[in-house]
Amino acid sequence: MTRFGAVRRGFSAVVTMLLLATLLSPAVVRAQSRAATAPEPATLVITNGTIITMDSRMPRAEALAARGEWIMAVGTADEIASFIGSGTRVIDAGGRLVIPGFNDTHCHFGGGSSGLRQLNLYGVDSLEEVLRLVAEKVAAAEPGEWITGSRYDHTLWTASDDWPTRYDLDRVAPDNPVRLSRASGHSSWVNSLALELSGITKDTPDPHAGEIQRDPRTGEPTGILIESASGLIRTGGGRRLSAEERRQRQKDDLVAGFRHAAELGLTSVQTSSSLSEMEVVRELQAEGLLTLRWTGWLGIGGIRRYVEQGLRTGDGDNWVRIGMAKIFIDGTLGDGSAAMFEPFTDRPDFDGLPTMTQEELTDLIVYADRHGWQTGTHAIGDRGSHMVLNAVEQAVTENGMRDMRHRIEHAQLLIPDDIRRFGQLGVVASMQPTHCTTDMRFAEERVGYDRCKTAYAWRSLLDAGAVLGFGTDWSVEPLDPMRGVFSSVTRTNIQRMEPETGWFPEQKLTVWESIYYYTRGSAYADHLENTKGSLAPGRLADIVIMDRNLFVIPPSEILDARVDYTITGGRIVWDRETGSWGPENR
Ligand SMILES: [Zn+2]
Repeated sequence: MTRFGAVRRGFSAVVTMLLLATLLSPAVVRAQSRAATAPEPATLVITNGTIITMDSRMPRAEALAARGEWIMAVGTADEIASFIGSGTRVIDAGGRLVIPGFNDTHCHFGGGSSGLRQLNLYGVDSLEEVLRLVAEKVAAAEPGEWITGSRYDHTLWTASDDWPTRYDLDRVAPDNPVRLSRASGHSSWVNSLALELSGITKDTPDPHAGEIQRDPRTGEPTGILIESASGLIRTGGGRRLSAEERRQRQKDDLVAGFRHAAELGLTSVQTSSSLSEMEVVRELQAEGLLTLRWTGWLGIGGIRRYVEQGLRTGDGDNWVRIGMAKIFIDGTLGDGSAAMFEPFTDRPDFDGLPTMTQEELTDLIVYADRHGWQTGTHAIGDRGSHMVLNAVEQAVTENGMRDMRHRIEHAQLLIPDDIRRFGQLGVVASMQPTHCTTDMRFAEERVGYDRCKTAYAWRSLLDAGAVLGFGTDWSVEPLDPMRGVFSSVTRTNIQRMEPETGWFPEQKLTVWESIYYYTRGSAYADHLENTKGSLAPGRLADIVIMDRNLFVIPPSEILDARVDYTITGGRIVWDRETGSWGPENR
């Protein structure tokens, strides 16, 4: 809390809001009505829990009461018992851990949701398991129907880096064409039927900038198509969907995403979006299918139009609202396109390219800031983040310090001098703990040991007064918050479980900090820490009950933790015992 305290001192507006929220909160209302009569009954009570509130006024509690969407009271089981009426739904937590619902600060929810349709092979660590999953899809498909999947990584299952072949897939899919793209997205693995339907034979020449991998003895394609050779695959033949069918499919996909998120304990997401997508989300809300709160970002390309339309960050309500304007300043570390001050260690002639000049970036951020728009700029390289900090500094100079909470998305590599500027300028570091534990396999090779000391530098950023917001970048990484908590607490790779003591372990966080920045920190990044992200009177009743206490189990068990209940706005939207999902699940 002290870290937030430091930030609050810089933002008197926040303090005023906090006071207002306290004055208007149901806690006060409760106290008044209580003097006269018994308290109003709650609609939901959680009792006998180990409640970690993420609120400094009462950090721990046993029970809480909610009425409708809002938390009325938090306290001991005895205190809260007086809120139980005949219509109150009571959950006996049986000592389990109760925390605020998770809030993913950075994801691509629409894309992630439609990706659920495909087979996701992320992290699958044996060929047999891949084939089992393909066979499962085949069993559910019509003969001839395409089976598509993504994110397989054969280096996880073979020490010799041998590629898989079409014959592996033929064993489980003789009558369905199969196409699986690799984790990097730069190659595809297909079966014999897919090659046949695409007309790829041993006589097909390699396309420009691509390779059809071939058996060195026979010249027959092996089923691996590299780079542009993937473009030879012909998955066509299907009927084109009408506009109405496409919209229905989009809705079905989003609902699948809501369900997936509820199972994982997410009650809020901050995601790339569009005005038309948010209209669809509204429709789903009207149909009673929205089980999480949606903050959608709009691309900076439309900023002048949005300003003319009178739109700004924060428009909407507690369910669907407009978030920041999203900007890109560079690429990724994996592709070597991050904008760096010094050349890459493994490519000494190249330091990455920013997507625009400092002047262009500054103009955008100053303009957005002046018109009430928070910005979030994708910056991976140290030079990329430096440019964003310069731009925000200029916005503060020109427009004044106005608690805009501009964000840097990813902020993976930073020069030491820039770390303190986050706190000074009130810039939020929107980070994805799993990016660290995935990228550390190649980070040192790419940028060298010294630059890695301030890479994914959570501890250094906090020490310097920054606020973090945690997320996943789904579907780049899986949506499961437990992976993020595990990664930030251990800095150990999830697939390989190495290094055991953590990569640059001085940057590790505690379990409490990790959950805090995944709940309250995320809410802060969205200007909503006085509305959600902690369990206190007057906050939204967005809550998860975990099957085990993350604070006492060994870190290695965090990945096994499951969410027993997800509650959004006082309604149970996921109940693991019955396996049921839905906003009316009571
Ligand atoms: Zn992203």
